[in-house]
Order: sequence, then structure tokens, then C-alpha cells
Amino acid sequence: MELTILLVSLLLSVQTVSPCLLESERHGGHIQRQRSAPYVRRQSSNDTLPPIPVARGDRFQGGKLIPQGLGLQAEGAKIESILNLDEIHSGMAGLAREFNIELIEAPVKTYENRTIVGARAAGKDGKVRAMIEANIHARERGGPDHVLYFLADLLSAGRTGRGVTFGGVSYTHAQVRTVLDLGLLVLPTVNPDGLAYDLATDKCWRKNRNPKSANATKPDSIGVDLNRNFDFLWDFEKEFAPHTHPASAQPGALDFHGTAAFSEPETRAIKWFLDQHPDLGWFMDLHSAAGVVLYPWGDDSNQSVDPGNSFANTSADSIRGIVPDTANATYQSYMLRADADVYALIGSNMVNRMADSTGTVYAVTQSVHLYPTSGSSVDYVYARHLRDPTKGKVFGFGIEFGQGNEDNPDCIFYPTVSRHNSNIVEVAVGLMEMLLGATQYS
Ligand SMILES: [Zn+2]
Repeated sequence: MELTILLVSLLLSVQTVSPCLLESERHGGHIQRQRSAPYVRRQSSNDTLPPIPVARGDRFQGGKLIPQGLGLQAEGAKIESILNLDEIHSGMAGLAREFNIELIEAPVKTYENRTIVGARAAGKDGKVRAMIEANIHARERGGPDHVLYFLADLLSAGRTGRGVTFGGVSYTHAQVRTVLDLGLLVLPTVNPDGLAYDLATDKCWRKNRNPKSANATKPDSIGVDLNRNFDFLWDFEKEFAPHTHPASAQPGALDFHGTAAFSEPETRAIKWFLDQHPDLGWFMDLHSAAGVVLYPWGDDSNQSVDPGNSFANTSADSIRGIVPDTANATYQSYMLRADADVYALIGSNMVNRMADSTGTVYAVTQSVHLYPTSGSSVDYVYARHLRDPTKGKVFGFGIEFGQGNEDNPDCIFYPTVSRHNSNIVEVAVGLMEMLLGATQYS
């Protein structure tokens, strides 16, 4: 296992990866361009591909038409634009009209008075065992599209008796049914304010749009990084070693963690969805663009030998987050051996089949090997049962889909048409593998 971790770490360090917070952005910077890999304009301007455009209008006509991903279309089919916010909602409305699914609104309003909506496709027994969310980081374009198309393809295949094919990977109708029978809750955008702003301005916007901590003279200082705002080691200044930078307490920083755990309506809405669905056992949070499948923990390296040495151990606060260990910083984060095995097994199935689908090679690793984090969704959902034994265990995964778009150095998170279509396929396969794995371990 140690060797595996070492190899993954080496793989991540030698590849040009673009995790959703760039190294240049982690230390108070606002630099969107990836300075560590300077952009070199190609000789001919004709061969620089533009990012995929954002759609105008509403391709689903207010819910009269239903979304269709790539799983049921002929080979070579292509999706030519990113869904706008209206389309995300009209696509969900179309699915609700056409299939026996329910749209649920969290009873929380965002700063700009929007609602976070989930589509619930309950399983055969009426239960919901897996929750899939996207777009917690607004600029990571394509996340809402991936989950909406995935759900649409499963529902259509489930009703027509067909299987689905994503690139080089096919699933039978029986496998589709198995996944639908689990029961799915899908949240295409959990940051609608950030998404609306990013789509309207192309500003490579990551956070939400809460201005309460912002400097009024600096519009770019608005917002909280929602994926540092969950109640998991949120108070990093107290709970992590100095200089490990798992988040920022500076309003205006791209990873500003807010004024308290769950200070933001968006994270409270996600918690509400989790609380409302006690049968959940599986969770996916979509990001881009590092080409990595991630699982807990994000606070330090995992170990499965010393249960006392865990995220809950406050005596480790001064040394948490130092990876690799040093002579004076020996803390590693405890994970039950059986859970570590489930994460490793399902994670490797995911990346193997994702590679089969398009040829794109993803790595799989615990998230701290990208960088330490505090207050992230995946750690929070998996820690809930450890902090409150009345709650069920929820395995949390993340996919950082795709690769940074070097053709668009102003925002590498806006994919090209070709990359977006590959991402749709790869994410669908990653989700199928997680959910098929879930059927074995639920
Ligand atoms: Zn992200």
C-alpha cells in the first residue's frame, strides 16, 4: 500500500495536472493562469481551439424535451455547447415530466435568492442510496452537464430495455437496472450563483457570490470557497500545522473558508439533502481538471493501524497536514482497513474503466496527495458516521474530470468541445463503476 501511495504521488507530481485549485492560487494568489506551466502560443493561430461555447436559449424548451447524453447515441455523436442555468433546470423538469422522478428544493436560499434543486430517482424499494453533486466550484465547466446527461441516459435506458455505451465501455440493461434500483439523488449545480456569474462573465469564478466578508472596493474578493466550508476540521488555523495551507482565512482568497463551518447557504443545503436521506451510503462530488479519482482523507496520509490517531485527535492539531511525515510530525489519519480496501478497489475499477472508455488515464489516490484540505465535502460526508453513530456510513468520492485546457490560459477549467465530450463519457463510466461497486458493498 505504501508503494502504491508513493507511485501515485510520483505520478501526480510528474504529470502536468491542474487540480481545481492551482498551486499558484493556493497561497493567497488570484492568478488564474497556470504559472508553473507557461502557456506557449502555437505557431498558427488557426490551431488554437476555443473553449466550448455556453448555450443560448433553452434546448429543452422549458421541459418539453428531455436531455440526452452520449450513452444511447450513435458513435460520433457530439454535444456542442455547455448547458446554461435555465437549461439545467428545464432539463431536470423534462426528466421529472417524462420519468417517475421527483424534483426537491432545499429550504435554503442562496445570497442571490436561488434554490438548489435535486432530482430524486428513488430505487425499487423507494430508498435513495447514492448522491451525486456537481459544480461546487463554479468555473469547473461541464459538471452539471455530466450528471444531468448521466441520469437522463440511465432513465431512458431503464425504460426502453437497452444498455448504455460510453466510448469503449458498454453496460448491459441489467447493470443499468441494478444502478437505478439503488436509488439516486442528483444535484447538477450546488453553486448556482457562482455558475450564473461565471457563465455570464467568463471570469473563471470559483466561489459563491456572498459579499459579506468582501472588501467593497475589490469585486474579486467576493465569495466563499464552498468546498472549504463543511464541518470537517474547518478551523484549520487551530487544527492543522502552520504553513500547511488546507484553506484560507483571508476574505478574498480563492480558498477562503467562510466565517464558520456551514456559514454558507449552499453547504447548508447539501447538509439538508444528506440529512433528508438517511439511506445514503455513497456520495460523489465532481470537480475538474486534474484527471484524478479522489477519496478521503484530505487532512493527512491514511493509516489503518492506530484508531486513536484520527481527525478527532486534538493532540495532533499542531502536526496535522504535514505530508510526508517528519521526525516531529508523525500524525497520519486513521481509516478502517475494510473501508480503505473498498476505496482502493472501487477507485481502481473506476480509473481502469475510464481509461477503457476514451484512453484518458486517470490516477486514483486519497485527496491529501493533491494537497491538504480542510472543510471539504468528501471528508465531511465520510466523517458523519464517525462523529454521530446514529448516522449511516457514506463513502465519499471525488472525480477531477478532464485535463486543464492549455488552449485557454485565462481559464484552463473551460474545456474544448472535444475534451467536454470525452469528459461526459469518462464521468459516466466513473459513476457507473462507483455505483456498481456500491451494489456489492451496500
Ligand atoms: Zn473543484
